[in-house]
Formats: sequence, C-alpha cells, structure tokens
Amino acid sequence: MSLSYADQTNGAWQTYLTQIDRVAPYLDADLSNFVNTLKSPKRTLIVDVPIVMDDGSIRHFEGYRVQHNLSRGPGKGGIRYHQDVELNEVMALSAWMTIKTAVVNLPFGGAKGGIRVNPKELSPRELERLTRRFTSEISPIIGPQIDIPAPDVGTNADIMGWMMDTYSSIKGHTVTGVVTGKPVHLGGSLGRVRATGRGVFITGMQVAERIQLPIAGSKVAVQGFGNVGNEAAYLFSHAQAKIVCVQDHTGTIYNAEGLNVKELQKHVTEHGGVMGFSGATIIDDEAFWTVDMDILIPAALEGQITIQRAEHLKAKLVLEGANGPTYPEADDVFVRRGITVVPDVICNAGGVTVSYFEWVQDLSSYFWSEDEINQRLDKLMIQATADVWNTATQKGCSLRTAAYILACERILKARKERGIFPG
Ligand code: NAD
Repeated sequence: MSLSYADQTNGAWQTYLTQIDRVAPYLDADLSNFVNTLKSPKRTLIVDVPIVMDDGSIRHFEGYRVQHNLSRGPGKGGIRYHQDVELNEVMALSAWMTIKTAVVNLPFGGAKGGIRVNPKELSPRELERLTRRFTSEISPIIGPQIDIPAPDVGTNADIMGWMMDTYSSIKGHTVTGVVTGKPVHLGGSLGRVRATGRGVFITGMQVAERIQLPIAGSKVAVQGFGNVGNEAAYLFSHAQAKIVCVQDHTGTIYNAEGLNVKELQKHVTEHGGVMGFSGATIIDDEAFWTVDMDILIPAALEGQITIQRAEHLKAKLVLEGANGPTYPEADDVFVRRGITVVPDVICNAGGVTVSYFEWVQDLSSYFWSEDEINQRLDKLMIQATADVWNTATQKGCSLRTAAYILACERILKARKERGIFPG
C-alpha cells in the first residue's frame, strides 16, 4: 500500500477528486485559489490493532482515522468495520463528510475511520476487544472538540458505547460527547438510529414533488437493507409506495406487487439477510438494476452504479442512501437521460444531523423528545434540499454539483477567513 496521497489515484478517492474538479469552475476566483485544501486530508492516522482472540492466538488488524478538513469545526464521521476497508476508501468517506456537514450547515468538518475486518467473523468479546484497542490507538486525535466518531457499515450503538467507555477510562471521567450514535441511556439521542433513513425519505419526498413524481403507487428498489435501507423502505411503504425489489449481501428478492416491509424487517432480524423471505421471488443480483422501478435507493456500499447500470436503469429518481454509490461517468449518463439524483451528501445527511443534535445534547446535558428531534431534523433537511434545488436551478447544473457548490463555498470561505498559519 502506498502512503502518499498523490498515489491514491483510483477507487473512491478518485471519484471524490473528480467531483471536486467538476465544481471548481463554478467557484469565485478568490475561493478557487483555496480549492487544493480539499484535495488532500488534513490528518491521517493508520494504526495496528492487535487483539487476543478467544482461542488465545493474537491477530493484528489495520485501522484508520482520517480527518479530511476541520475548517468549520471538529471532525465528524463514522467508523466502518468491513473486510474491504482501505486508506483510499476512508479518505473519500472523510471528504464526503466534509462536504455533507457543510451542505447541511452543521458546525463540523469531515472525518472517517475504519478497520479492515469482517465483524461477522468475530465473537462479541473479540469485537469488544478490537473496538477498545482501536479506540485507545486513535484516542490522541479524537475528542468532543476535536473529532467525533459515529457508527457506519458494520458498527452500531453497542460499539459506540464501548468507544465512549474506553475514551472515558483514558480521560478518567465520563465523556459522552466523544462519539455519537450511542445507546440512549449512555447519552445517545432519541431518533438517531432511524435518522438517516428518515432523511432519505424527507429529501426524496421533497425532490419527488418538484419533479412531479407521485409517491403513492410508485415502485421502489432498495439495495442494502441495514440501518439506512430498511428505514427508508419502511417510510416509503408507509407513504403507499411499493417496495418491489430489495438486495442485500445475501441476494436479491422481488415482488411486483410490493414486499411487506415490516415482515421483511422481522425476517432480516431473525435470519441475517433477505434470502429465504416468503412472498418474494429470488432474482439474479445483476437483474436488480433493470427491474421496473420509479425510484432507486442504493443504501449499501460505494461504487455500485456504473455506466452500464446507469444506461439501463428504469428509475426516474435515485436517492443515494449510501455514500458514493455512483461513479462520475454514471452521473453523466443520468444527466443525459434526465434521471434526477439526490446526492449522498444531502440525501443521507439525516444521520449526521441527529448526531449533531446528540453532541449538542451531550454537551449541555439536556435531552430532547423524539418528536422535537424529528421536527428539527425535517426542518433542516427540507431547508438544505431547497437550497440545493435552488442552486441547481440558478446554475443550470445537477443536484450533486449544486450541493458541492454550496458546500465548497462554505468550507473555502471559512478556510480563507481563518488564513494560513503562520501567515
Ligand atoms: P448496515 O451495515 O446497517 O447495512 C448495510 C447493508 O448493505 C446490509 O443490508 C448489507 O447486507 C448490505 N450489503 C453489504 N454488502 C452488499 C453487497 N455487496 N451488495 C448488496 N448489499 C450489500 O449499514 P448502514 O448503516 O445501513 O449503511 C449503508 C450505507 O449508508 C453506507 O454506504 C453508509 O456509509 C451509508 N450511511 C450510513 C449512515 C448511518 O447513519 N448508518 C449515515 C450516512 C450514510
């Protein structure tokens, strides 16, 4: 593995760099002078995480924490446990957090972390040891005013609880604000678990109305039925849309009349995946991309929508629940084909928005009701969607470019006003 940023010339990081290059021509000259600040992370930490396995052997895992940009506030971003995690991916995910927090106008920068591990292969005790050792390794660069991790693919509230406890043990006092997405009785926020899926739904409804796509009776396909995908699917089915196709790591299921989302949630909780769900037929994984659908919700991993998949997609609206699911060249196909994409940096920003609420509640030790949280979340997401939509209309560009214009202007203004130390 190369440790030079300049050598990270492919994968998700390259996708991000292309997105930045596309927005640069839209920026005022005094800001575009600073655009290189977005092209490399501020700080990267690679850690060796050794743990004692249940059988007494010792295994080493590679972990990362990348702080992409801190111009607007402390770093914010999840921790991913997945066997394919690598520096390039974590860099891109951290950069997308910089853009995302700026689009929604939260007072944060962008960061991300992860460990290259398949968490499903570890026992609960091994997972706890891994999390605690990783937390201790990255503890010099995290903290409520420095960088605040959260859950992502393969991590959850329990893992955030262990991170908070480990960090607090190192500091000698309880520091709830060091991570978000914690269990509610440990300073977590009501509404956090469902916030990202809710944000996908809210932004989706806002844009569907603007492109005159009626939700009732519309056909929705969802890739990924985890935290994000299952909540988004539930809310769309509640709004009378038909969830016709769901794909996860176990396979792809289809029902033209619409799947029963509540039953599917129960099935996935019991069996660990969608396969084996009655009331659906199994289809080939590649066929997922060509089923008859009005709305596509990619809510699994990045790099899913290639040029070929974009060419054959039947959807009119794509709601990016996942981070970075669409390649830039596929974006061009969507623009040419008139398919509207609500980009990840706004579509899935519900999670980081409620994470922000959680951090505010932890710092003030005063907690809000779920209704209050959902109201504040909806208000912020509706405003951010309107800002992005209006910018796209004014500049005649895609929603993704518009979101990047708004975000980059905010980040680079902060960069410019802070100046370059030592001057
Ligand atoms: P999760 O671990 O809860 O669920 C991931 C889902 O993706 C699972 O259903 C899994 O089976 C499926 N999946 C994994 N590999 C797959 C493959 N190769 N093909 C098809 N499906 C596959 O994760 P999550 O929290 O729901 O996150 C999903 C996406 O949303 C990620 O891109 C994540 O970065 C993004 N995201 C999550 C949050 C959040 O709050 N959880 C916030 C913003 C963005």
